[in-house]
Amino acid sequence: MTSARATYHDGQTGEAHPVLVRADADFVYVEGEGVELRHPLDTVALEPPLGSLPRRLDLPGRGACLVDAAFELPGSPTDRGARLDGWVHTLERRWPLAIASALALALIVWASIVLVVPFAAERVAMGVSPSVEARVAGQTLAALDRLALEPSRLPPARQAEISRRFAALSSLVAGPGAHTLEFRSSKAIGPNAFALPGGIVVILDELVAVAEHDDELSAVLAHEIGHVRGRHALRGVIQSSVSALIVASIVGDVFSASSYAAALPAVVLESRYSRGFEREADGFAVALLVSAGIDPAHFGRILLRMDGRSKKAGRYPDFLSSHPRSDERARAASPAR
Ligand SMILES: [Zn+2]
Repeated sequence: MTSARATYHDGQTGEAHPVLVRADADFVYVEGEGVELRHPLDTVALEPPLGSLPRRLDLPGRGACLVDAAFELPGSPTDRGARLDGWVHTLERRWPLAIASALALALIVWASIVLVVPFAAERVAMGVSPSVEARVAGQTLAALDRLALEPSRLPPARQAEISRRFAALSSLVAGPGAHTLEFRSSKAIGPNAFALPGGIVVILDELVAVAEHDDELSAVLAHEIGHVRGRHALRGVIQSSVSALIVASIVGDVFSASSYAAALPAVVLESRYSRGFEREADGFAVALLVSAGIDPAHFGRILLRMDGRSKKAGRYPDFLSSHPRSDERARAASPAR
């Protein structure tokens, strides 16, 4: 548009005059009550547009007008709409560029899931209050009890002995984290133990049966205490939920994200811990065993045995499936002997 309402300031009196500004191929005209100006086009300057803000039109001398954002001088190169159109057309014509843009988006999504989300999840998990976490833990255990766990059939004396070992290890760990040991059994899951949010560690009868030495049980418990200390369960749940939300927001399927959140117990059950979490818990376990006077080699032994049993039975993927290779871990545990 080459004519627009404006306010004219003469640069001397501070007075604002309502005017009409228009331009033709040669001149700019500023007309209003008591104002009648005509300036050659090449003597005025119009500032670039900034959203819908009025644009300043500088006139020769000290005068200026504030004109509507849509105002343009004839032949002006600052028509942003036209430039954007041109850019879109260029993109359309250059499909390799379009593919590169899509790849860049995928890279950003990947980076945020792999790099940013774990970092943010750690901060969030560390900020979750113990009472909230305890409630989540209670609900998760109740759901697991419904889905996959059965009551333990270990004799009370045996449970008491393992609880004593668990308490001995926990007492060596400084800082918060109410550690609770729960006994269950599960044919579906097999020889295993896992850490829930809220400092609950669950040990299955099947694992107790596989152990050839009680120090092996201490080793697994030490590993699970490592998960508790790092709040890995909560971080894992936050990470996978947020990642699912990011993916859903791009794919546009929010339903899958909300159903993912509802599948929380399954996430814990499958213990989709990252290798980083596992290495952290392994390192923690070795150090804890050493300070408890237990040979960390027991850790490697029971890991390999658990792995062997799970493979033989071909059971549904338990927490070992996402763990780093058991033989690597066993090796990592042995030098500290
Ligand atoms: Zn683990």
